[in-house]
Amino acid sequence: MYYSTVHTHTTYCDGNNTAEEMILAAINKGMKTIGISTHGPLPFEVKWSVANDKIQTYIDEIRYLKEKYKDKIEVLLGMELDYFIDTEFEHIDKSLLEQLDYTIGSIHYLGRYDDGKPWTVDGHYENLLEGINASYGGDIKKAVIDYYHHLSKMVEKYKPTVVGHMDLIKKNNKDNSLFNENDLWYKDAVCGFLDAVKNTDSVIEVNTGAIARGYMTEQYPSKWILEEIRLREIPITINSDAHSAENIACKFYEMYELLKDLGLDNIVYLSKNAWQKITL
Ligand SMILES: [Zn+2]
Ligand SMILES: [Zn+2]
Repeated sequence: MYYSTVHTHTTYCDGNNTAEEMILAAINKGMKTIGISTHGPLPFEVKWSVANDKIQTYIDEIRYLKEKYKDKIEVLLGMELDYFIDTEFEHIDKSLLEQLDYTIGSIHYLGRYDDGKPWTVDGHYENLLEGINASYGGDIKKAVIDYYHHLSKMVEKYKPTVVGHMDLIKKNNKDNSLFNENDLWYKDAVCGFLDAVKNTDSVIEVNTGAIARGYMTEQYPSKWILEEIRLREIPITINSDAHSAENIACKFYEMYELLKDLGLDNIVYLSKNAWQKITL
């Protein structure tokens, strides 16, 4: 039984399939809800987010599909929004937010080069190091702590419905090659963020997207973080961050098993404008 995914990408951004194909894939898996969460507009042109002149078409199409498939699945209209550590969500129109059923707040960009161009933590290893050199004088620990500091600030101030891939900063940290996840300072940074989430209604996602795309063999967040989440009783939802229809429920079964093994007996999924709790 697959319940839901509200983190999915389509041809409106960097996904391979149309919104309708993603919805059909979710129906095929027996899901109760699917949310389409195209990468939202950015203050500059990139290939992987929705073009400004396509935003209204996107909204209209998802609303049309919501109606078309309402007897088979609940379709939700969302967006994955980029938080910038300096300008925050300044680039997002309030009127756009009012039209969405939910938001995913993510930090992909952690700093800027001298020319103002932002650099991402979601790219390749070399690019990450280049960025950390530019903004943090090469101090990886400082950059990682700052990542969680800004993630906390984003959640406290804007309360996105879902926090996107909370430990994305580990993407290039295979075998703890950049920093050691077992170090106390890392645990403190992560737990500080979890304490911030605990005071809001935001939900943390288990995100299998990097597994599907071959970047990692593990989900976001790491297993030990899931245990900290359980201790704080912060609700968890499972999302595929799928960029293609075939990955709509990538490793969901394994995630249910993992959470059960960690002693988590329920997860939540978004439906009818609220988080619904289900027993695993
Ligand atoms: Zn993302
Ligand atoms: Zn995404």
